[in-house]
Amino acid sequence: MEAPKKVTITLDGRTIEATEGLTVIQVADQVGIPIPRYCYHPGLSIVGNCRICLVKVEKIPRLVPACATPVQDGMVVYTNTDDVVEARRSVLEFLLLNHPVDCPVCDRSGECYLQDYYMQFGLYRKRRFAPRLHKAKAKPIGPYVILDQERCILCTRCIRVCEEVAKKPQLGLFQRGNRTVLDVFPGQSLDHDYSGCTVDVCPVGALLDRDFRFKARVWFLKRTRSVCPGCSTGCNIYIDWNEDKPYLAQGQRVFRLKPRYNPDVNRYWMCDYGRYGYKFIDQDRIPRPYRQTDGQRQPIEWSEALERIRAHVETTLREVGPSGIAVLLSPHLSTEELYLGWKLFAEALGVRDIHYEMPTRNPKADDFLIRAEKFPNAAGARLLGIGSDGSARAILENAAQGRYRLLWLVGQNPVRCYGAELFQAVVRQTPWVVLQTVNWTESTSLAHWILPAAPFAEKEGTFVNAQYRIQRFWPAVRPYREARPDWVIFQDVARALGLTGWNYTRAEDIFYEMTRRFPVFQGLDYATIGDRGVVLQVERAGVLVNAGT
Ligand code: SF4
Ligand code: SF4
Repeated sequence: MEAPKKVTITLDGRTIEATEGLTVIQVADQVGIPIPRYCYHPGLSIVGNCRICLVKVEKIPRLVPACATPVQDGMVVYTNTDDVVEARRSVLEFLLLNHPVDCPVCDRSGECYLQDYYMQFGLYRKRRFAPRLHKAKAKPIGPYVILDQERCILCTRCIRVCEEVAKKPQLGLFQRGNRTVLDVFPGQSLDHDYSGCTVDVCPVGALLDRDFRFKARVWFLKRTRSVCPGCSTGCNIYIDWNEDKPYLAQGQRVFRLKPRYNPDVNRYWMCDYGRYGYKFIDQDRIPRPYRQTDGQRQPIEWSEALERIRAHVETTLREVGPSGIAVLLSPHLSTEELYLGWKLFAEALGVRDIHYEMPTRNPKADDFLIRAEKFPNAAGARLLGIGSDGSARAILENAAQGRYRLLWLVGQNPVRCYGAELFQAVVRQTPWVVLQTVNWTESTSLAHWILPAAPFAEKEGTFVNAQYRIQRFWPAVRPYREARPDWVIFQDVARALGLTGWNYTRAEDIFYEMTRRFPVFQGLDYATIGDRGVVLQVERAGVLVNAGT
């Protein structure tokens, strides 16, 4: 393919080599020269309707919109002359003529481009004192989105998200002149699978997230890079959290998930299923280990739980060998945890009946981001060779026949995946069923032992997505009460059993052991996986399980 042609332009006195076909605002973004924008969004088509990005170009008599002006060889552009700044001020004054300026009660306060640009370029004295025009306020337009028409500046970004990203036109502009309003099409609701993205792109407080609204002021929130665990796409996200402000919503630490730009995975977008699926981080959490007998649940110290598990594992190994133990790991675990689970049970204890799969599929799968495979790390489990023989169902059916003395389930919910009847039979026929998981579920009320695990937001590690891209995620909040990351629990069990060499202090230590043992991970550097992830050479995956230390 022919390389794109280069042109040379001068931008605020800097000589810049730019790619032909880009617009002035795109080149300015590349070199870090700020140009304000409302209607322009790098992930959407260009409409050039807000005029806040006007710049001066030599030999053109009037100011031109930077978003819609392609660069040309020899072009000389100024982004900050007096007439450019005056034009921005005029645009702001125009946009704010009928704006309610209700920033103190606006949920978008602190992340609103009207506020920011007024403070940068506006700062004019009010000249119009006639009554404002009123439009609809706080109008729910979909399950997740609420609209304030008075705050809307008619930039049409949200309309373009529906048409270009979700491919479901549901929003439009109605009426004319200063009575123009944004609204849903008559009789419709904004209910496509990417509706939350309209809130992301809205540059002002017109579209608000019903889930997040009035729960936290954005300047109190902290932000951690992460990866969505909602399906095998592994959309890059931010976790916005705050665990230090007791006056915020009771017991809530994670307040919202926002898409994080990755050009190779999700660009600027994420689906509603992933976005609003974060509640399990703070709700229905298992606070500590429990022992359950005859329907009675007793809290137990970690140390005692580990000691009794050790004794039972040793007795089982002595009396019937590793065939008396079966393990189901989970495709929700990080790659490091899957590896450590495999290392503990399959390699150290010799367990052969070990699998990771969960049969649930996402019925909303589309040809954009949402994948039918609902788990963030099924590809990681495949690469490690876990469960290459048999199936999770076969293991549970064996357990229901009384074949094991110990069944260890990690991050699984067998009642939801396989039905209550099968799991009730498993619990009846297996003396010890250990369930290591994050939340109370239908299955936790049946298991004999419950060990509290930490979800992705409370630990670090990697996921391998469906493209075999390995991506890092980072801990946002501390583990809830006595919950522990799954890799820590595996290590605790290994140490209780007296296994040597289990001295991992963080997920990174486990990662480097994997890079030494498995060709597919060889040469990777935890630090340089970075923000965008690294695509693995999957053809090197064949020799995984038997690779030596
Ligand atoms: S609601 Fe927001 S994104 Fe949509 S047109 Fe109005 S200002 Fe633009
Ligand atoms: S497409 Fe999948 S990974 Fe992306 S946000 Fe939705 S559930 Fe999460």
